Amino acid sequence: METILSINNLTKKYGSLTAVDNLSFSIEKGNVYGILGPNGSGKSTTLGMVLNVVNKTSGDFQWFNGKESTHEALKKVGAIIEHPNFYPYMTAAQNLKLVCKIKDVPGAKVEEKLEIVGLQDRKDSKFRTYSLGMKQRLAIASALLNDPEILILDEPTNGLDPQGIHQIREIIRKIAAMGTTILLASHLLDEVEKVCSHVVIIRKGVKLYTGPVDGINASHGFLEMKAKDTARLCELLKTHPGIGKVTTKEDCVTAILQEPIDAEEINKYLFEKGLFLSYLVKRKESLEEQFLQLTNQTNNA
Ligand code: ADP
Ligand code: MG
Repeated sequence: METILSINNLTKKYGSLTAVDNLSFSIEKGNVYGILGPNGSGKSTTLGMVLNVVNKTSGDFQWFNGKESTHEALKKVGAIIEHPNFYPYMTAAQNLKLVCKIKDVPGAKVEEKLEIVGLQDRKDSKFRTYSLGMKQRLAIASALLNDPEILILDEPTNGLDPQGIHQIREIIRKIAAMGTTILLASHLLDEVEKVCSHVVIIRKGVKLYTGPVDGINASHGFLEMKAKDTARLCELLKTHPGIGKVTTKEDCVTAILQEPIDAEEINKYLFEKGLFLSYLVKRKESLEEQFLQLTNQTNNA
């Protein structure tokens, strides 16, 4: 495994406010990471520090195992952290050609990157005629011009309509599939679930969870049941192929699901074997519930 970025006890204070609090995590090559947290949780501040645009208060970070200076390392990073700045009266292609000159990369890259973000057919339109979604796609193309090792995006779908959101997510997936490591900040759980392989959940600058996205969403949930004949109920459940561990507490039986099975299906299965349930409920700790619990927000409950 090749480490692209490691962050160790990174902290940022604004006066008495600790925006990022002893944050540590690392980014391995080829994965798609999401920094997930509610607004104001320190996502942008974290990205700002590792991109050298926000001064850290303490702790440190290291790009590419510290083999080169941060200044050199950042040449291999593509980032979009604020609103893209392009010349409104120049076309998309002209704007990107200019970026090529500034970044000292061959102009031929322009076509290749426009293709990736699906703007080939609009490359000769002036930037000012672009929709917000197209502007964001052009910004991604621009960040990719120097073939970065890692692409960093801060709230890439903010303000876009559903179609624009979908297009950006598809592009992120495509770039990831081509082998580019991605780090994106988002306050949207479903965005992280849809595009990321790994997640760092933060609240008030403090890390709450880090690991694979599946890791917190692997479970298919469980069923809680009651019947007059508890022993028979357990016996029947154990013969069902989609059910894993079965446990009993007082007269309530809990069955862990190994596949997505709904309550109705189990009810029918037991009924056909002559067993009547007096109580049946399916529960699942979804990623959403866990996220809400972790970040201590309540779902109108
Ligand atoms: P996020 O990107 O997760 O929404 P930010 O990193 O932008 O969060 O902000 C984290 C906290 O730091 C917030 O409380 C925010 O108000 C504060 N903050 C961010 N930038 C500054 C600044 N330049 N001066 C003072 N406080 C700031
Ligand atoms: Mg932010």
